[in-house]
Amino acid sequence: MNLLDGKLVSEHYKQKIKTEVAQWVANGNKPPHLAAVIVGNDGASEAYVANKVKTCAAVGFNSTLIRLPADTTQAHLNDTIDSLNDNKDIDGFIVQMPLPPHLDSISVTERIKPSKDVDGFHPINMGRMMLSQPCYLPATPKGILLLLEYYKIETKGKHCVVIGRSNIVGSPMTMLMSRKANPGNATVTICHSGTTNLKHFTLQADILIAALGQAEFVKEDMVKHGAVVIDVGITRVDDNTNARGYRLAGDVAFNEVAPLSSYITPVPGGVGLMTVVGLLLNTLAAAKKKCIIKRIKINKIKLYDFKKNY
Ligand code: NDP
Repeated sequence: MNLLDGKLVSEHYKQKIKTEVAQWVANGNKPPHLAAVIVGNDGASEAYVANKVKTCAAVGFNSTLIRLPADTTQAHLNDTIDSLNDNKDIDGFIVQMPLPPHLDSISVTERIKPSKDVDGFHPINMGRMMLSQPCYLPATPKGILLLLEYYKIETKGKHCVVIGRSNIVGSPMTMLMSRKANPGNATVTICHSGTTNLKHFTLQADILIAALGQAEFVKEDMVKHGAVVIDVGITRVDDNTNARGYRLAGDVAFNEVAPLSSYITPVPGGVGLMTVVGLLLNTLAAAKKKCIIKRIKINKIKLYDFKKNY
């Protein structure tokens, strides 16, 4: 078993980004600037956002954290997004999900300018990803591709099974693993809560990507000998032996699956760290205006105009 070490690989990428930012600033440009909006006090979201802000400082980015109370109205959140869309100093921004239930996350995602949508969740970015066109890839699938690439894991012709079909992880992951690219070019099966006999599919996986959000769900008897196992899940599990009162668990029962696998990501220390790298790379591309997406009007019809590829 080999560890797909998110700490090692994320440090490698952060160092590269830091060097590129230093060069960019030395050439007279302003540092890339990421903003994050968090609504309410969800403990896990607070931790994710704090980590993103901290990592921005480590690589030389500017960052702005906007905290809004849990009872923020949709109108106020919309105004916040509009002002970030218009703020020339901000290169990209994210609205941390999940939002409190009274807020409409779909309209929030659609309100973010595609050229500042460094989470890659806007339908324009998602649609362009489907077409293999220039876009911001969603940060977690992008981070997983970087991890596979770093360890030179062959994906072409392999059977990749993804558990989970969410818009932010499972669905884009299946798309990216199946497209004609490296990493990619795999034959992909997508499983979800409607899948009958899940084990039948997971046992066929050369590459198994678990993104279902059920702590330690994938057991030894569900994994083929020699499989590459990518664990996306992060769930807080009560643990009185831990000072915080909980521990973080992945979707894979690591201790029993690891000995079977050829490569496996730990939780924590795997995909989560790579997600931050995906976000930083998208923000760097936004700062360098490598993917300019403008709203234009032709004959009074609103369209999106892509100026450059990257
Ligand atoms: P969602 O809850 O949005 O999606 C979960 C998916 O898993 C759904 O498609 C659901 O099926 C499917 N599913 C749930 N239970 C089962 C089951 N028993 N058998 C088969 N399929 C099942 O979750 P996300 O995609 O947002 O996140 C998944 C996990 O990854 C979470 O633990 C989350 O915290 C973590 N995460 C980690 C990130 C990182 O950086 N490491 C980033 C983002 C998320 P259906 O569609 O039918 O409901």
